Amino acid sequence: MKSPRVLIVEDEPAIAELIAVNLRHNGFQPIWAEDGDAAQRELDAVLPDAILLDWMLPGQSGITLARKWRADARTKLVPILMLTARGDEPDKVQGLDAGADDYITKPFSTQELLARIRAVLRRRAPEQVNDSVSIGELVLDGATYRVNYQSQLLKIGPTEFKLLHYLMKHPERVHSRAQLLDKIWGDHVFIEERTVDVHVKRLREALGAASVMLETVRGAGYRMTSQPQQPLSSAA
Ligand code: CA
Repeated sequence: MKSPRVLIVEDEPAIAELIAVNLRHNGFQPIWAEDGDAAQRELDAVLPDAILLDWMLPGQSGITLARKWRADARTKLVPILMLTARGDEPDKVQGLDAGADDYITKPFSTQELLARIRAVLRRRAPEQVNDSVSIGELVLDGATYRVNYQSQLLKIGPTEFKLLHYLMKHPERVHSRAQLLDKIWGDHVFIEERTVDVHVKRLREALGAASVMLETVRGAGYRMTSQPQQPLSSAA
């Protein structure tokens, strides 16, 4: 079996080296890039299975790089784990908004780092989302990864796509945050329930006028419904 290739984008050599040694000892193939430009050269050469991305970097910041790689068709599906400073809550949310799959707070233990890398790799493993499902005029095509509403193509991220697929497959039912973490993220030992809210917010933005179909049920969770309490409007 091929060892998963992990690109470490970190300007501090001591930290990068520590991570690389631990990854190597645990069957991964680490590649080190000290800044965004070096990381881009590595990405252009060979796509890694995951990216460990430091938040504070000289030149382009981790957040800028995460946004850029998410927007690029070639790199958009590569899992990104952001490395952040301790307890920087707005940073974490910003990181997830920029398209990071998870974040890890420095200083971290080797076991935690390995567990999280394995978790993002599992989550990105091919899933059975290749079927299609529709609710009213909202149509999700799993084979082409496209979502249309009233025949208009919606722009939607990979996690939001999986979330929408699950909610549309099980409509009219309320799903708690914990249940959604289980179903969409699988191994969620280190993921906070707030992560679900962040992705639901992004999903609503992507859905535009159809977002009224995705209801928040206070104190219980989320529901996808064909009969929203707010009327469906035709304009976005
Ligand atoms: Ca740094």
